[in-house]
Amino acid sequence: MSDCLFCAIIKGDIPSTCIYEDEQVFVFKDIDPQAPVHFLAVPKEHIPGPADITVDNSCYVAHIYEVIAKLAKELGLEKGFRVVANCGEDGGQTVGHLHFHVLAGRGLAWPPG
Ligand code: AMP
Ligand code: ZN
Repeated sequence: MSDCLFCAIIKGDIPSTCIYEDEQVFVFKDIDPQAPVHFLAVPKEHIPGPADITVDNSCYVAHIYEVIAKLAKELGLEKGFRVVANCGEDGGQTVGHLHFHVLAGRGLAWPPG
C-alpha cells in the first residue's frame, strides 16, 4: 500500500533497525521503545490490522509467532515477554499495518492501562 509507513519500512524507503527478515515477515526495533526490549513483527503483505485477519492470511500470523518464539530464545528472553497487537482507535492502534509488539526486559503490569 503506497501511503503505509510500515510498507515503506519493509521496502527500505524509510530506515529502520531490522533484526530479522524472511520472505513473509519483517522485524524491526520500535522507534519509541516502551521497555528495554521492544520490537515490532509485521507481515510483508499489507494487512490493515487484527480485525482483518482471515482464513486466507492467518498463515502470516502463525509464522510471525514462530519467528517471535525463535527470536525470544536467541535474545535470551527466558524471564518472559509480552506480545501485543493493538486494534483500532480504542485499542490504541496508530499505524494501519498489522504489527505485533514484543516487549521484554522489565516487569510488565497487568492489566495494561
Ligand atoms: P501502535 O500504536 O500499536 O499502532 O504501534 C505503532 C508503533 O510504531 C509505535 O510503538 C511507534 O513507536 C512505532 N513506530 C512509529 N514509527 C516508527 C518508525 N519509523 N520506526 C519504528 N517504529 C515506529
Ligand atoms: Zn502496509
